[in-house]
Amino acid sequence: MPRTLIEPFRIKSVEPIRLTTRAEREEALAAARLNVFRLRAEDVLIDWLTDSGTGAMSARQWGAMMEGDESYAGARSFYRLQSVIQDITGMQHFVPTHQGRAAEKILFTAACKAGELVPNNNHFDTTRANLEYLGVEAVDLVAAEGLQPALIHPFKGNIDLDRVQALLESDGERIPFGMITVTDNSNGGQPVSMANIRAYAALLKKHGKPLIMDVCRFCENAMFIKMREPGYENKPVKAIAQEMFSYADGATMSAKKDGMVNIGGFIVLRSDEWMDAVRNLEILGEGFPTYGGLAGRDLEALAVGLEEGLDEHYLRYRLRTAEYLGERLEAAGIGFVRPTGGHAVYIDARTVLPDMPVAHYPAWALCNALYLEGGIRGVEVGSVMFGKRLPDGTETFHPMELVRLAFPRRMYTQSHFDYAAEVIAETKAHASTIRGVRIVRQPKLLRHFTCECEWV
Ligand SMILES: *Cc1c(COP(=O)(O)O)cnc(C)c1O
Repeated sequence: MPRTLIEPFRIKSVEPIRLTTRAEREEALAAARLNVFRLRAEDVLIDWLTDSGTGAMSARQWGAMMEGDESYAGARSFYRLQSVIQDITGMQHFVPTHQGRAAEKILFTAACKAGELVPNNNHFDTTRANLEYLGVEAVDLVAAEGLQPALIHPFKGNIDLDRVQALLESDGERIPFGMITVTDNSNGGQPVSMANIRAYAALLKKHGKPLIMDVCRFCENAMFIKMREPGYENKPVKAIAQEMFSYADGATMSAKKDGMVNIGGFIVLRSDEWMDAVRNLEILGEGFPTYGGLAGRDLEALAVGLEEGLDEHYLRYRLRTAEYLGERLEAAGIGFVRPTGGHAVYIDARTVLPDMPVAHYPAWALCNALYLEGGIRGVEVGSVMFGKRLPDGTETFHPMELVRLAFPRRMYTQSHFDYAAEVIAETKAHASTIRGVRIVRQPKLLRHFTCECEWV
């Protein structure tokens, strides 16, 4: 058998990449105030800013879109998608939404109230923000292995069951439900084991609490279980996903991830308990419950996308691309969060810029350097994203300085990854010339999206 694991698709429709010179990139980055979020996408060669809604759809999905039923109520496309989702999740209620955060907002408004708290392995930003907006505390309880970036462990997204139990005992009456995020996006896309999901669900059940899963990347999580958890090596990925859902009472999903579409999301629920409130909020904010903020054609694309997202050949190639880039980085002496996750590689900027003062934002500086060197756009996950400027003008910093490279689905081929690995190694070779930045303008919240910087 040849050893090369090929992309299990061929290309039918192409989108040109605009090649730029270093001088052009210097100009574009200066115009963007040294903030890659402010670049025009056209000026980027390899766009690894996010895997959310950025993937390529298949010929089957484009074909299905022509079959979209745009009826306001009771569209055929709704029933088609509902049967696919009921088959995978085993849950009777399915409510489409325009994206994941809308699903969160609706479900949390229906099921939580101020003063409560929700445990999770790690809440994603929008999940945390939607809970906090309602006055609910979002408690992150990832297991200790998940907090050590260099440690190799198969399931660094697992939740710490002892801490969950202690919380249920001390504050049980304040907990409306438990959550778990698969894969753990905020922690590098690390998977959660089936054993952990099963035990967590049983623990919650013992205390009379439902389990809600954040399932944006459930296909990638199921494939990790197949590859890493004894007893699952011969099970089809779909059956593994079905078992994961069997332990849950409900789920929220951003279809922009493993749904393989550019827009969409949904809620599923097993019981009727919250459904009246969910339906009311859906109509108030998203639309009639059989379209929920999406066009009929979007529902069709998602019905096909969910099946394609569970394809094992695709998933094996998908997880391998991240692992492959990790191997290339390791060979170049560049540190990253280990093992590589499902959808992204997180470079440890400290291994490229060990001496840059944290006040010059080393991960932001590396992010800019990767753009200048080879037109690669990643995202800083460090002290610009998580640090704060205090009223006295001093700053708080984040303990880690990471650059996340997140991979759109079915979009880049192995030669793009080879090119990126060369650009990153080359950037490290010129590390002494990489300049830090200072922030000259910033908003109060989420400053990384819009802040303006200058070279130090
Ligand atoms: C993307 C994401 C969300 C939010 O979904 P949107 O479609 O961006 O609104 C929620 N949770 C996780 C884990 C995510 O990755």
